[in-house]
Amino acid sequence: MWTLDDVRADAPACQNLVFLDSAGSSLPPNPVVETVMRHVRREAEVGGYRAANERLDDLSAVKTSIGRLINAPTDSIALSDSASRSWSDFFYSVPLQTGDRILISHIEYGSNAIAALQRTEQTGATVEPIPCDPSGRIDLEAFERMLDERVKLVSLVHVPTNGGVVNPVRPVVDLAHRVGALVLLDACQSAGQLPLDVSAMGVDALSATGRKWLRGPRGTGLLYVDPRLDLTPSRLDLHGATWQSIADFDVAPDASRFEFWECNVAARLGLGTAIDYLLDLGPDSVFAAIASTAATTRAQLRDIPGVSVHDPDGELAGIVSFSIGGRECTEVRDALAEQNIVVTVSHRSSTLLDMDRRGLSSVVRASPHCFVSPADLEKFAESVEALR
Ligand SMILES: *Cc1c(COP(=O)(O)O)cnc(C)c1O
Repeated sequence: MWTLDDVRADAPACQNLVFLDSAGSSLPPNPVVETVMRHVRREAEVGGYRAANERLDDLSAVKTSIGRLINAPTDSIALSDSASRSWSDFFYSVPLQTGDRILISHIEYGSNAIAALQRTEQTGATVEPIPCDPSGRIDLEAFERMLDERVKLVSLVHVPTNGGVVNPVRPVVDLAHRVGALVLLDACQSAGQLPLDVSAMGVDALSATGRKWLRGPRGTGLLYVDPRLDLTPSRLDLHGATWQSIADFDVAPDASRFEFWECNVAARLGLGTAIDYLLDLGPDSVFAAIASTAATTRAQLRDIPGVSVHDPDGELAGIVSFSIGGRECTEVRDALAEQNIVVTVSHRSSTLLDMDRRGLSSVVRASPHCFVSPADLEKFAESVEALR
């Protein structure tokens, strides 16, 4: 079992920083940095092709590790350079025509909503938000009433970018599948902080990013696609398909059809190291540490007069959202940064439906990972108190 000192030693920056931005771009542990640096150096020594050939086993192990984390077969996983890339690779491959319906979450992420709107222009399909309860979670009864056989795709955001709400997954999947709709789970903010078992959840596809709670390098993302689906990506290259003749090509049999040939090999290896690091620590113990640190953060903020915590009650993930009466969120972020406390601001346009529903234009986002100490949280609470 790991200790706080262990994980802090692996992220040396947390000696000087109170780092509360793992929902934005976390601190990668030392082994991740070493993997990336070593590979970049090797590329300089022997060239990128030979350097990659030396690591073929490790490269295929990246997908095996992801498969262990989300309980998926290796060949159901495609790697990419971001969650948005992975999400849209799947989304644009779902056939749509006039009259079809796309349902999105009330806590939908901006990029997903923009893609959905673009496809309504291209196909004549419509996009509709699924009503939520007062907490922001999907209203399952309202969802059930919306469903008919014209619903082709449900975009389910597991955890939003702007707070700790966790959407139910299995009940949404069960209802959607009754009418034959696919469910694409945006697990960008849950991968690395909540258990994800694609087979237990029953989702048709799942997308996530490397740099957030998984603590991988920037420019990495992943997509899981249920092997029983036979969707053709909207774009293919000679990795996702094979050129057979002047008139013919074959699409790859597995999820690699959603990948292009070229990639940042160092970053991809780094993502594998990040996931192995999490698997070695024990995902459940990391998830529990994140949940309890976030709960402490919320409790401390709630005790400070003039501070509003914007997360609802109930089961919450590690994203704490708040504001200080009379202070701009960006001003709070910048003042905290001067004291070496890293938080970010989530703006209306990232989660427009949710922010408008609650009359918010921005929130300060504090997202502590397992390496955040009680002393860090004390310092954070004191600094917030001094700012109000
Ligand atoms: C960050 C985020 C994304 C996009 O991830 P990228 O890797 O930046 O493309 C998608 N959905 C949610 C909920 C996010 O928070």
